[in-house]
Amino acid sequence: MMDDNCIFCKIANGKIPSATIYEDADFRVILDMGPASRGHTLILPKQHFKDLCEADSTVSAKLFPLAAKIGKAMITGLGANGFNVVQNNGSSAGQTVFHLHVHVIPRYEGGPAMVSWIPGKANAEELTNTADIIKKHL
Ligand code: AMP
Ligand code: ZN
Repeated sequence: MMDDNCIFCKIANGKIPSATIYEDADFRVILDMGPASRGHTLILPKQHFKDLCEADSTVSAKLFPLAAKIGKAMITGLGANGFNVVQNNGSSAGQTVFHLHVHVIPRYEGGPAMVSWIPGKANAEELTNTADIIKKHL
């Protein structure tokens, strides 16, 4: 289903023009208008899902294979040395557009640091306790 108030629904379904690199029955893949690097791509499902938790599992099962296809084209076509696959859920995770999307970000030799964090410290007891809590909610 499409949400008439959603910009990514409009782009994914061709109502607003975009720099499209791939399209099939389920997805449109476009270039991000604020690229982290040359070729930064967004995979947009044509159906509206707010985030990964709401997504239809047949749609989400296709996301990683499609990200791999695009990433390979970034390596062979753009000369990238690798790529990051990033998917934000919720505003505290950095999600700004509430229509499920996957970023595929090409990485180049000598390019800036990104998609990184400062590793914390956790002892075995903390890890066990946290694992137990998450397990109970699966
Ligand atoms: P996120 O922060 O994960 O929600 O990512 C949203 C991304 O969408 C950002 O990287 C924006 O630069 C990008 N974006 C927002 N509006 C558009 C648009 N109209 N066309 C292309 N990219 C967009
Ligand atoms: Zn939408």
